[in-house]
Amino acid sequence: MTVAAVIVAGGSGLRAGGERPKQYQLIGGRPVIWWTCRVFLAHPAVDIVQPVIGEGHEAMFAEATKGLDLPLAVIGGSTRQDSCRIGIEAVARHKPSKVLIHDAARPFVSAGLIDNVISWLDRFPAAIPGMPVAETLKFAPGGMVSRTVDRASIWTAQTPQGFTYDGILAAYRKAEAEQTQGLTDDASVAEHAGIAISMIMGELENRKLTTADDIVIANRDMTVRQIAERPDVRVGQGIDVHTFDEGDAVILCGVSIPHTQRLKGHSDADVAMHALTDAILGTVGEGDIGTHFPPSDQRWKGAASRIFLEKAVELLEARHGIIANADITILAEAPKIAPHVPAMRAYMAPLLHIDPSRIAVKATTMEKLGAIGRKEGIMAYATVTVRLP
Ligand code: MG
Repeated sequence: MTVAAVIVAGGSGLRAGGERPKQYQLIGGRPVIWWTCRVFLAHPAVDIVQPVIGEGHEAMFAEATKGLDLPLAVIGGSTRQDSCRIGIEAVARHKPSKVLIHDAARPFVSAGLIDNVISWLDRFPAAIPGMPVAETLKFAPGGMVSRTVDRASIWTAQTPQGFTYDGILAAYRKAEAEQTQGLTDDASVAEHAGIAISMIMGELENRKLTTADDIVIANRDMTVRQIAERPDVRVGQGIDVHTFDEGDAVILCGVSIPHTQRLKGHSDADVAMHALTDAILGTVGEGDIGTHFPPSDQRWKGAASRIFLEKAVELLEARHGIIANADITILAEAPKIAPHVPAMRAYMAPLLHIDPSRIAVKATTMEKLGAIGRKEGIMAYATVTVRLP
């Protein structure tokens, strides 16, 4: 038996505000779609995870799902119905017996709920999770209450919605052939084709992120959840120093700052990011930057220091660790650091997979004391706390 999961991420999701569609906004340091895809990829009963994305979202999707073992995304249509049909058609070559169709904007879906939907498909050709309605329902056309609706059999529908593959494929093809449009979820397509659908209990947590407030709350919840699962707290520290050389800019925390000199080094000499990298490596006892990127290796000549930082984060994440916060202090007489701090935090947050509010960059001069005070170079200290299971 092969089970496929189609993750529908075609929407432009502009109701949630922000510069990018909601499924690409960050919660708990990762894009919403990353969390969603990972639940299905990690599920032992799911064999194929097929994302369906919006036209023009290719680069954003690739960046958002970096490191996840996903097939190429297919490009959806102009409506959810079209996107789902395209996604269902796309997994045909795997000959799945069951298919789950899930909204990318529901990142809190649990493995247990996925299990439940899959197992109900042994008895019914379709099964969808949902929640019974607790509030009293009013029918109020034009804003005036005309009657109270009996809520006894009313449910809200969630995803993943599960179907026998051949049944839902035929239902979508039928709707397509008849040019029936406006079916807002997969169950509606199945209903339209006369397929019997079992309603099963969903989960309150499995809500769909729609508004800007939903994203804010989800960011908090996802972060708290990640931390709660990791009781092992560790602290790491890193220190680095680079001397000045002839040049016109220094790179600190990934941001190029115009200056009368540059920093000398084998890589881009981002002294602050080197200190941070060593601090992270320190939390998992993985040596220092030199262990992983020997200066004798020509490959790292002029390299952007983000590759060092990404390596350290990768080693931490290989142990299922996460960063709780990072605190960097830069010691320099010049240039002025403060105006660049927001850009530095924004640059590092996606690399560390944490919210920018958990990154601090501070700067101090040495009051002209010592080598740093004589403007011979820049020094940086970094402290991080990490959490491990
Ligand atoms: Mg260095």
